[in-house]
Amino acid sequence: MDFFKSLKLKEDEREVEPAPILRINGKPYAKMYHYCQAAPGEVSVLGRIRSDGDNVYTVLDVELLEQECSAASTDMDEQALTDFVFKIAKRGGNPSEYNFWFHTHGHGGVFWSGVDDDNCERHSQKTPYFALVMNKCGEMVARRDFQGETCCAKVVVVPTGAPSLMKECYSEVRKKVRAIIPAFKEDEGNGFYKARRLNQE
Ligand SMILES: [Zn+2]
Repeated sequence: MDFFKSLKLKEDEREVEPAPILRINGKPYAKMYHYCQAAPGEVSVLGRIRSDGDNVYTVLDVELLEQECSAASTDMDEQALTDFVFKIAKRGGNPSEYNFWFHTHGHGGVFWSGVDDDNCERHSQKTPYFALVMNKCGEMVARRDFQGETCCAKVVVVPTGAPSLMKECYSEVRKKVRAIIPAFKEDEGNGFYKARRLNQE
C-alpha cells in the first residue's frame, strides 16, 4: 500500500484533490487488452471494483457480455445486462460492486465522447463510478464520476501470477542497482551522498 500512497502528490504540491488511483490486477488487465485487440471495432466490459481506502480502487475482475458494436459504438444487450445482474445476485454477490465500465476505441484515440460522458454521468450516484478507455495501441485514460463530479483517475497495472519472476527481479535489483543514499554519519557530515549496493549494510 505504501507504493500506491507514494504516487499521490505531497500535501504542498497539490492544488486540487489528488486524483484517485485505479489499480488493475494482471488478469483483468490482460483480459481487457485482449478483448480490445480481438474486437473488430469497439467493445464494452463491466468490471467489479473494490475500494482499498486512501483513494485507491482495485479492479478485481471484468465480464464481457453479449453486445452490438461498430467502429464507433458499443451497446450491451439489455437482456444480457438483466441476466448478468440476476446471476450475480443469485450467487450472493452485489451487482453494485460492478461500478467499472471499460470500453475501447479500436484504432482511434482515447478520449471521452459525448455518449461516454452521458453514460458515466448517468451512473454517478452514491458510489464512485470508474470508466476507462483503451485503444489498440494500449493507450488508456480513466475517470471517476461521483455525486455529479468528474475527475481524472491514475491507472496503475499490477502484474500478478508470476511469483518466481518477481523473486528474480528483486534479486537482480539487489545485485545490480546501487542506491544513492544520504549519509548522516558524523564523520561523513550531513548531505554527503554515496552509492552503495542495496545488499550492503
Ligand atoms: Zn468512447
